[in-house]
Amino acid sequence: MATPSVEEFEREAAEWLAQNAVPRRAVEGDTFVWGEGEFSVSVFHDLAHDDEKDLLEALRVWNQKKAERGYHAVRWSSEFGGLGLDAAHGRAFQRLEAQYETPGGHELFGVTTGLIAQTVKAFGTPEQIERFMEPLLRTDIYACQLFSEPGAGSDLAALGCRATRDGDEWVLNGQKVWSSGAQFSDWGLLIARSDVDVAKHRGMTAFMVPFDVDGVEIRPIKQMSGGQSFNEVFFSDARIPDNLRLGGEGDGWKVALTTLGFERDHSSSGGGSGGRVGGNWPKLLATADAMGCTDDPLVRAALIDYYVHSTVERLVNRRAADNARSGTPGPEASLGKIMWTEGMTLLSDVISKVLGAKLIADTGEWGTYEWGEHVLGAPGYRIAGGSDEVQRNIVGERVLGLPGEPRVDKDLPWRDIPR
Ligand SMILES: Cc1cc2nc3c(=O)[nH]c(=O)nc-3n(C[C@H](O)[C@H](O)[C@H](O)COP(=O)(O)OP(=O)(O)OC[C@H]3O[C@@H](n4cnc5c(N)ncnc54)[C@H](O)[C@@H]3O)c2cc1C
Repeated sequence: MATPSVEEFEREAAEWLAQNAVPRRAVEGDTFVWGEGEFSVSVFHDLAHDDEKDLLEALRVWNQKKAERGYHAVRWSSEFGGLGLDAAHGRAFQRLEAQYETPGGHELFGVTTGLIAQTVKAFGTPEQIERFMEPLLRTDIYACQLFSEPGAGSDLAALGCRATRDGDEWVLNGQKVWSSGAQFSDWGLLIARSDVDVAKHRGMTAFMVPFDVDGVEIRPIKQMSGGQSFNEVFFSDARIPDNLRLGGEGDGWKVALTTLGFERDHSSSGGGSGGRVGGNWPKLLATADAMGCTDDPLVRAALIDYYVHSTVERLVNRRAADNARSGTPGPEASLGKIMWTEGMTLLSDVISKVLGAKLIADTGEWGTYEWGEHVLGAPGYRIAGGSDEVQRNIVGERVLGLPGEPRVDKDLPWRDIPR
């Protein structure tokens, strides 16, 4: 079948959306109206457990509705239930969809369809691809990332959660932490230590772990902002079959780097959270207008700084997306992630100037105190998926070719590394 032009595709998609969704009353951007409807600039959800579960269920239902026509996976090939179209078609659908009431976004949705699905595609055996790809893309199942541990975050290769081979099975023991959305997940992509006698980067193996096996315990962590985005996940003699190993034995580091590459790429475009999170230019400008401070030269300079940053960021991301037509994102994805988190931080600074005390004292005035959720949430993405400092190391070493930082334990067997 001939590939439809973007215009043809848009016509069909618009018709389908009109039949299957309700138009949105006020749309972000030009038609954002100050004082109307709900004002949200939150970065992380602050929902009760059941409300968050309901949100994920609503996202699943909408995604599966789209899957009836392949709109859930515009750029994925038909082999995976998608339409096999270009980035331009994908963007066109997103633009159209944004005009309709949809359930919104959730980090776990982006992790499942964006990161875990991409990683399974990159490393899965034909059987694993057959088993996982469509369910992940359709969100028949949700899957989270089980990488970080109490003693292994930036230095992920230091991780110590153990996977010990026992015939055709693996026995898992240890702890993961900061596992976003694990309490709502059916599966986790785990990186575990399978060989303690080789250098740390070489002794890891990746697995898809079902959460309904014995020996897996998930404990949500309560955040100071109210929600519970993260979890601790404990493995106590949990047994899984070898056919859930993703990639070869000892390939865990390669698998992890692939997922993290997609995460940088994905989160810099806001996809990791199911869309752009936190505040944005139209809301900032509308708030400054409402506060009557757009004549203040200091505020004007700060507003322009943010406008320039967000415009350049959007164009850089667009160029990177157009260049990376396919394949695994390289270290360049780190640049996009740094720009994104710097933009969020800059926005926090500017809105603080605009709102002053109204940012921290709830006056009840629409669209003011809510900005606290952006300011308190933005730092989280400076850490998630590799901190800003680590991204700068990656750019320095792998994009600019600067000398690497000293890594004294690089060649030591993992068991001999002091900890
Ligand atoms: C919102 C959010 C979601 C997350 N979701 C998940 C998830 O779903 N699954 C998962 O496995 N993990 C998740 N994480 C964990 C995340 O990957 C780690 O927090 C991150 O890798 C940093 O590790 P750490 O917290 O151990 O900090 P550390 O590694 O201990 O870092 C502490 C500080 O030291 C700096 N630092 C460390 N090493 C260097 C270096 N070499 N050079 C310069 N500075 C350095 C860091 O930048 C940081 O400022 C999430 C974290 C956040 C904030």
